[in-house]
Amino acid sequence: MELVTLPSLMPTPTGAFPEVPLLALDTLWFQVSGTICNLRCQHCFISCGPDNHRLGMMSLEQVLGYLEEARDLGVREYYFTGGEPFMNRELVPMLAQALAQGPTSVLTNGVLIKAETAAKLRGLQDGSEYSFDLRISMDGYDAATNDPIRGAGTFERIMQGILRLAEAGLNPVITVTEALPDAQTREGRGRFLEFLRRAGLTQPRLKILPLLRMGAEAGRQRGYAPWESLAGAHLTEDELRALQCSSCRMVSAVGVHVCPILVDDPVGGMGRRLKDSLRPFALAHPACYTCKVDGLSCTT
Ligand code: SF4
Ligand code: SF4
Repeated sequence: MELVTLPSLMPTPTGAFPEVPLLALDTLWFQVSGTICNLRCQHCFISCGPDNHRLGMMSLEQVLGYLEEARDLGVREYYFTGGEPFMNRELVPMLAQALAQGPTSVLTNGVLIKAETAAKLRGLQDGSEYSFDLRISMDGYDAATNDPIRGAGTFERIMQGILRLAEAGLNPVITVTEALPDAQTREGRGRFLEFLRRAGLTQPRLKILPLLRMGAEAGRQRGYAPWESLAGAHLTEDELRALQCSSCRMVSAVGVHVCPILVDDPVGGMGRRLKDSLRPFALAHPACYTCKVDGLSCTT
C-alpha cells in the first residue's frame, strides 16, 4: 500500500532563505489604483475592494516620474494593474506615455470598459510602435461558475467588456485562476478556449494562474502552511532567473515594491525610487514558494 503524507503533517523547512539578485530591471509594474477596486473577489490576494484604501491611487505626475526613471535605467516593458486600473481617471495619459517608451499591458477585470473606452484603447494601440495588450480576469464559463468568486452579475459585465474590446479590434488575453477547479487540466483549458471562441473571440488567448494563499483567498480556502516555505532551499541560477523578481519591480503611490505579489506587504517595500530597489531580495515570504513550485509569473 502506498503511504500518502498529509499536507498538515509535512515537516517545516528550516535554514536560511535564498536570495534572488536583480539580474536586470526589464519590467516595471504600476499599481495605479492601489487596493481600490470596483469588485471584491473572494480570492483576491490583496483583498482589494471599493472601500480598501490601504494603497491609494497613483497620480499622473507620480507615474510620469517613474517612467522617466525607468527609461534611464533601461526598463523594456510596462504593466498597469490595481485594484481596478480603469478606476484611475488618468489611466489613458499614463498608458500613452508608457507606450511611447515600450510594450505595455493593462490587467483589468473588464467591467468598466465601455465602447468609448475600447475606442480610446484602440487609438493608443494604433498610435504606438510598441505592442499593447489588455488582460481580462474572470473565473468561469458562466455566471454559475464565475459569480460566486467575482460577485453577482459580474460574468455578464466582464463578457460585455471583452466583446467591446473585440469589436474595437483588440484581442485581450483572458486570465483564469485555479479557483475554477479544472482550469489547469488540458481538458479544462480546451473547454475554456472553446467557450471563448463561441463567445466571439476568433483567436482566444488564455493564461491560467495559480492561487496565492493570502489576502481574501486565505479566508476563502486556507492560508499558507508552515511547510510552504523556501527556508533552506537552494535555487539554481536558472530557477532564480525564472522568478519575476529577478527582472521586475512594482511601484505604487507609496514607493517601490519587490514584485506585483508583495505590493501590500511591508516585507516587499524597497524604497521611494527605483534606484533604491536595485538589490537582492530574500525569498522569505510564503508566496515565494508558489512562484518557485508553480512557476508563477504575472507577466503575459
Ligand atoms: S482579483 Fe482583481 S478584480 Fe478581483 S478584487 Fe482583486 S483586484 Fe479587483
Ligand atoms: S512572491 Fe514571487 S515574485 Fe515576489 S519576491 Fe517572492 S518569488 Fe519573487
